[in-house]
Amino acid sequence: MSTRTAVPAACDIVSYLHCPLCFEEWTAGTAPADSPKSYSRLSIGLTLRGLQVWCDRHEASVVHLDFDEIATGIAEKTRGT
Ligand SMILES: [Zn+2]
Repeated sequence: MSTRTAVPAACDIVSYLHCPLCFEEWTAGTAPADSPKSYSRLSIGLTLRGLQVWCDRHEASVVHLDFDEIATGIAEKTRGT
């Protein structure tokens, strides 16, 4: 019996990640787009540490998730420490 959870087929995103610089340009009205989502130019990929979201427009890291730190945090939480 597998303990893996099925990946949902629907989009479950409740809050999008944005490059703060792109978002600032959009809110200032200098970005030619209808929404922050349509203005974004993000690359998402695996790294040696985990997963990174990168803004191609500003050549800046938006977020870099470290899978080891996440796993350690989950393990500590389940142990109650
Ligand atoms: Zn950006």
